[in-house]
Amino acid sequence: MADRELAEAHFREGFKKILEGFELLGYDTSADENFQGTVSRAAKGLAELVLCNDTVQSEINDMLAKTFPARYDEMVISKHNVSFGVCPHHILPVIYRISVAYIPMEKVLGISKLSRLVQLLARRPILQEDLTHELARILHQTLESRGAAAYVEGMHLCMAARGVQAHEARVVTSAVRGAFLDQPATRQEFLDLVTTAHPSLL
Ligand SMILES: [Zn+2]
Repeated sequence: MADRELAEAHFREGFKKILEGFELLGYDTSADENFQGTVSRAAKGLAELVLCNDTVQSEINDMLAKTFPARYDEMVISKHNVSFGVCPHHILPVIYRISVAYIPMEKVLGISKLSRLVQLLARRPILQEDLTHELARILHQTLESRGAAAYVEGMHLCMAARGVQAHEARVVTSAVRGAFLDQPATRQEFLDLVTTAHPSLL
């Protein structure tokens, strides 16, 4: 995709400048073999962490166009999906653990699609708060469900490795829509299911 290649070319220009900054800090990156090819590798790495917005939107549209008729009106949960992204404030990686749920009305998504939705939406330069709300909104409005919820824990390298150095801190955000908003017991059931320790399946 042309835009993606162009973006990667811009990332390479940026990483060239970053290596010049390392030189100013006293690291001889032009002589050190470990830095040979770093500009290209780093640009490619960032391009993998941040997906093209058009790709994300079109894949989500395709996904939501292929639903199944609901034969079930209980809560569907996809929990503890580990996903990666970058924060828009520092362009540093964020490791997420994301749980989402919805209560179908007429349509259900294939179960693997919930994980895919989470992965796609996380791989953008987006605030965790906005990611959380967007997940709940898509699973409620776009899927026309009775309700939806998202619970996100984020380990932000901008917090863990610099600044306040809150190594162990996790940022926790949640969003609820529809039945999860109207019925505190439903919301609580979701939170209990996604936050309590549980024995491993394997
Ligand atoms: Zn940040």
